Amino acid sequence: MLYSSTRQGSGATEAPRHFCDILLEGLAPDGGLYLPQHYPQLDAAMLQRWRGLAYADLAFEVLSLYIDDIPPDDLRRLVRQTYRAEVFGGNPAIAPVTPLREAGKDTGLFLQGLSNGPTLAFKDMAMQLLGHLFEYELARRGQQLNILGATSGDTGSAAEYAMRGKQGVRVFMLSPEGRMSPFQQAQMFSLMDDNIHNIAVTGVFDDCQDMVKAVSNDLDFKRRYAIGTVNSINWARLLAQVVYYVSGYLQTLAHTGAPADLSGTPLSGWPRVSFTVPSGNFGNVCAGHVARSMGLPIAQLVVATNENDVLDEFFRTGVYRVRGSADTWETSSPSMDISKASNFERFIADVLGRDGVATAALFGQALAASGEFRLSDAQMARVREAGFVSGKSTHVDRLATIRDADARHGVVIDTHTADGLKVAREHHQDGTPMLVLETALPAKFAATIVEALGREPGRPQALDGIEALPRRCTVMGTDVAALKAAVAAACGG
Ligand SMILES: *Cc1c(COP(=O)(O)O)cnc(C)c1O
Repeated sequence: MLYSSTRQGSGATEAPRHFCDILLEGLAPDGGLYLPQHYPQLDAAMLQRWRGLAYADLAFEVLSLYIDDIPPDDLRRLVRQTYRAEVFGGNPAIAPVTPLREAGKDTGLFLQGLSNGPTLAFKDMAMQLLGHLFEYELARRGQQLNILGATSGDTGSAAEYAMRGKQGVRVFMLSPEGRMSPFQQAQMFSLMDDNIHNIAVTGVFDDCQDMVKAVSNDLDFKRRYAIGTVNSINWARLLAQVVYYVSGYLQTLAHTGAPADLSGTPLSGWPRVSFTVPSGNFGNVCAGHVARSMGLPIAQLVVATNENDVLDEFFRTGVYRVRGSADTWETSSPSMDISKASNFERFIADVLGRDGVATAALFGQALAASGEFRLSDAQMARVREAGFVSGKSTHVDRLATIRDADARHGVVIDTHTADGLKVAREHHQDGTPMLVLETALPAKFAATIVEALGREPGRPQALDGIEALPRRCTVMGTDVAALKAAVAAACGG
């Protein structure tokens, strides 16, 4: 499988590349994002065979379709090291599907648990694999990598827990001092691994991000210290996420009593399932789009946003209008507080039939000039054919949905998942099972759970008392020179 840029042909041209060549990189040189040149197609025999597989072996099958430059035995070992029950809350299903029942009856709604990893949010699903892939590829190349990032919570901790103790990788993670939740601070700062460096900046998140950009823009420094990132546009992260859509689909077949042998039925005759995805940067739901494009029988992909409704506006109106930081609200589902959706370009490139020049015209020129673009009616018809619909949820909805899920279904859900469930109910069609992706555990956002339910959410036992552990963190001003000095010192000068 070869990969090329969503903006192919619009600027600096580059020969198509293999998986491991884009693994350690961010944007393509022309500013676009990497996509496989085509989506491999599933068939009935294949899906039937996959119905009985353990999660890691399913991951191997899916990844093998996209990775031809890692020997199969090595790839199988890497996914088996990654997707172990011990790493994902002790549950061998790794991404288990549970029906939401009411008064003992099925409702057709299901939760798919993606937040049983070490940091209790779905980003672990992909980031844990990335840790193993990075270590493998860096060793193969005899290279080192210094990951530099800024976080306001979920991404930074997922990256640290994925990279801790890995050979060849160091992580320098900047966060705004005192602004993450006490639980998130405890999670990150209690890591004692030599290769993990927490830096608390006396400023806000944007200051952290500006410092990271300033260092990355110093090309000499960047090259000398092999500075890289693990941001959400990384193709390997997206690919890892495709696996749980396939797993969620196959588990739902079992829950809904589908015939045991469907190998003789073409995929068009298999039961269809819909997914609702609490969305921010469009990384999670873009993996759903890839799965559907491979032929997985998905009816709808429902995009749920919070008050930051850039994506809901697009799917309703065809206008994509990015927001400034003054128009980006801080909400009680903070991991969805985005002003632009960094993975969205991948989906639009598909809608535009992979016309790289047209994609560059929208994401390069139009956004730079006016901060927005509008798709034509014909293009929006293709968006609908791809199964997309959307909806939005606010703080009041979130509280009501958390209470409702507790009262009707006896489950406590986190704030992001609540946004998903609220919107899922609006699009749920009779006879089509609806899976809501659970993107975090409630323990991570305890304050809002207390506001909704008047009680603290439960917490996985392994994390009891985490706030009392010793911490390792360097406090720094908004000082780029100090940051460079810290990186240089950790690298031995
Ligand atoms: C990152 C995150 C999201 C948003 O996912 P995207 O891939 O950015 O759309 C939703 N919920 C939680 C808990 C997250 O950490």
